[in-house]
Amino acid sequence: MSNHRVVCWDCGADVADPYVNVCPECGGLLTVKMDLEELKGKRPADLRSRPIGVWRYYPFMPVDPEHKVSIQEGGTPLYRTDALAKELGMKEAYVKFEGLNPTGSFKDRGMTVGVSHAKELGAGTVGCASTGNTSASLAAYAAKAGMKCAVFLPSGKVAMGKLAQALFFGAKVLSVDGNFDDALALARKMADERKLYLLNSINPYRPEGQKSVLFEIMDQLDYCIPDRIILPVGNAANIWAVYKALTELREVGWIDRMPRLTGIQAEGSAPVASAFRSKSEDFVPEPNPETIATAIRIGNPVSGRKALRAIYSTGGFCTTVTDEEIISAQQLLGRKEGVCVEPASAASVAGLRKLRSEGIIQEDERVVCICTGNGLKDPDSIINNCAPPVRCRNSVEDAERILSS
Ligand SMILES: *Cc1c(COP(=O)(O)O)cnc(C)c1O
Repeated sequence: MSNHRVVCWDCGADVADPYVNVCPECGGLLTVKMDLEELKGKRPADLRSRPIGVWRYYPFMPVDPEHKVSIQEGGTPLYRTDALAKELGMKEAYVKFEGLNPTGSFKDRGMTVGVSHAKELGAGTVGCASTGNTSASLAAYAAKAGMKCAVFLPSGKVAMGKLAQALFFGAKVLSVDGNFDDALALARKMADERKLYLLNSINPYRPEGQKSVLFEIMDQLDYCIPDRIILPVGNAANIWAVYKALTELREVGWIDRMPRLTGIQAEGSAPVASAFRSKSEDFVPEPNPETIATAIRIGNPVSGRKALRAIYSTGGFCTTVTDEEIISAQQLLGRKEGVCVEPASAASVAGLRKLRSEGIIQEDERVVCICTGNGLKDPDSIINNCAPPVRCRNSVEDAERILSS
C-alpha cells in the first residue's frame, strides 16, 4: 500500500502517469499528498532511535526506505553563531550548514528520494538541467544506483567544482547553448519523449526529501520553533519544501505555529521578490538573470508560485541582495564562524543583515539561516575576493616582516 498520491497543486486532479511533470488536465504544478494518519498520536522522539538524516523521517517520505538509494545525506550541523549574530545585531542566530552533505549541497536530500523513486519505477536513464549542484548530486546518486545519467548545463556558466563532480561521477554532460532556463526546456522535451526520467525540482518527489532539512532543524532545536527561517531562492523548490514540511508537522500535531519563511534573491535575478513587492501571487519571468551567485541565477523559477504561497501563508518576507552584499556575507561567515559557503548560500545571511538594518527583523527573533552549499564548489568566487598570497623569501626575517605588516 502506497503512503501517498501525486496530485495537481492547481486543480487537485490525481495524476497516475509517473512520467509526466505537469498536470495532464490543466498543465499545473504537481505535488505529493502524503497519508500521515499513522503519525497522529506519535511524537518526534519516536523517530529519534534512527540516525539523523533524510531517512530518519521515513514516514514523511513517499518511498519505501527498503528501496532507498542513499549516501548518508542530511544530518548536517546547526551552528549557533555568536560572533555572526553579534555582528548582525541579533541575540540568537543559527546557520544550518547544508554544504556538509555528500556532494556539498542540500540537493542530496531531494536526490536520495528522487533517485530511489526512479529506481522503483525501473527507469534506466535519469537526467536534469542544472546550474551545477543538481547535476553534481544526480550524477552521484545515479552512480550509486547503477543508472545512466544525462545532465544539461548552460554552457560556460557552471562553477568549476560542480562541473568536475558531474564528470567525475560518470554522467554524460551536455553543454547547452543558452542559460539555465534554455537547458531546462531541452531536458523537459527529452523527458516528454520518455528518453529519460527527469529529476529537476519540477519533479514532485525531490521536494519531499528536501522537507527533511526542516525536520532536522526542529529536532536540533528540540522542537522550540524558530521565529524565522531565511533561505536563498532560485528555482524556489527549497522554500516550498520547508513550507510543506511545516504543514505536515502541523497536520500530525507536532507544531502549532510556523516560522516566517523569508526568501532572498539576488538583485539581478529576482522574479519572486518583485512579485512579493507588488503583493502578487504570480511572478513575471526575468529574461536575462545575472548574479555571481550562479545557483540562484534563474529567471523563470519552476516553483515560483509555490514559493509565494509559502511566504504569504507564514507571514514571511522576500527581498533582494546585491552581489557585493552576498560576497561580504560570505566573507563574514568565513572570518567570524569558520564556515565556507558558496555565494548563493551567503544570500541568506546577506538577507538577514539587510532586513535587520531595515528593522524588518527584530533583534530578539530566533532566526535560522539555511546555507545551502559548500564554498569549495566555487573556489573562483572566493579567490577573486581575497587578498593574494604574499611572496616570502626563505628567511625568518622576511616572514617576520610580513607577519608584522
Ligand atoms: C539549488 C540551490 C539553491 C536554490 O534552491 P531552489 O530550490 O532552486 O530555490 C540555492 N543555493 C544552492 C547552493 C543551490 O544549490
